[in-house]
Amino acid sequence: MSIGLRLEVDLDKIKYNAAKVVELCHSHGIAVLGVTKGFTAIPQIVAAMLEGGVDGLADARMENIIELRNEGFSESITLLRIPQLSNVENVVTYSNVSVNSEVAVIRALGKAAKEKGLVHQIILMVDVGDLREGVMTENVLATVRQVIGLEGIRLVGLGTNMGCFGGILPEYSNLNILVNLGKLIETRLGIKLEVLSGGGTSSLFLVERNEIPAGINQLRIGEGMLLGTDTTNSRNIEWLKNDAFLLKAEVIEAKLKPSVPIGNIGRDSFGNIPEFIDVGIRNRAIVALGKQDAYIEGLVPVDQGLSILGASSDHMILDITDATRQVRVGDELTFHVTYSGLLSVSQSKYVKKVFRKDNIWLS
Ligand SMILES: *Cc1c(COP(=O)(O)O)cnc(C)c1O
Repeated sequence: MSIGLRLEVDLDKIKYNAAKVVELCHSHGIAVLGVTKGFTAIPQIVAAMLEGGVDGLADARMENIIELRNEGFSESITLLRIPQLSNVENVVTYSNVSVNSEVAVIRALGKAAKEKGLVHQIILMVDVGDLREGVMTENVLATVRQVIGLEGIRLVGLGTNMGCFGGILPEYSNLNILVNLGKLIETRLGIKLEVLSGGGTSSLFLVERNEIPAGINQLRIGEGMLLGTDTTNSRNIEWLKNDAFLLKAEVIEAKLKPSVPIGNIGRDSFGNIPEFIDVGIRNRAIVALGKQDAYIEGLVPVDQGLSILGASSDHMILDITDATRQVRVGDELTFHVTYSGLLSVSQSKYVKKVFRKDNIWLS
């Protein structure tokens, strides 16, 4: 076993989660893209998703996609963030499909693909209300008319995204807008779209309840498969494992201290004025983990008796008075990560990644 600050990744659990999501979605005629942006597309984790049976991969960052190609992944990859006009050549070279909302970008993608002798597939994003990316519904038909004749690209479908900027929940009614637009495009323009991509983890809920509109045939799943959670619907997904990722950090001090600092309060190391409530002398621990390593609000102690009091760049302070087990210097504390926590620790060069596969720890 490894020591020091580390993210322990149980690949068997990720494979299990992927397989469960795929099984549910396939039984409703829905293909599953495994979304790799939440963990910077670490290859071992991507491989576990593929072993679980995902139908393709998707990421928001070209850097991650290029790395996946360099690692030898040859599966279809969808670029999930609408492309930058300045980067269309990489997009058509390394991804098979991209989601789009701007005709100028789609034209540029077509031109770049044609020059390379490629045909790039595009999914037109439709904004059904979350107000992040996408063409407003009333403009979809006109936009499709502008892009169908273009060389170098093929419009394969429509997609939508929810639960991100506006926190809008996927429902039968807003997802059915995609289905109806698909029908409209077919009757008016004679094009049969292959893909209606109905969102991410937050849409799984509708599949479980058999409330997803018929015709939605793709979901792009990250969070649920990785963490067994669905933040938008604020729920744990009971049929998935929620401990595939655990962060471990070492206790470097454990002492009784007052709960209110002594002296005149100025600003903390991040420029904020801290406030404290006097709850008397408490047992506190410092772990070797700070804001340089992780987004602290994205970490949750596994021991529910522990509470995070705060952190500076390199130290995290916890109240351990109510810990279920005694905490001593040299012990390790374990944390669950949320999606934002996972994003941050995946990127940190200070957090070692260790993997468990077929019940064996690899390092
Ligand atoms: C991140 C992202 C997803 C995956 O979302 P999860 O909540 O992690 O399942 C799907 N689609 C788009 C466009 C995204 O940016």
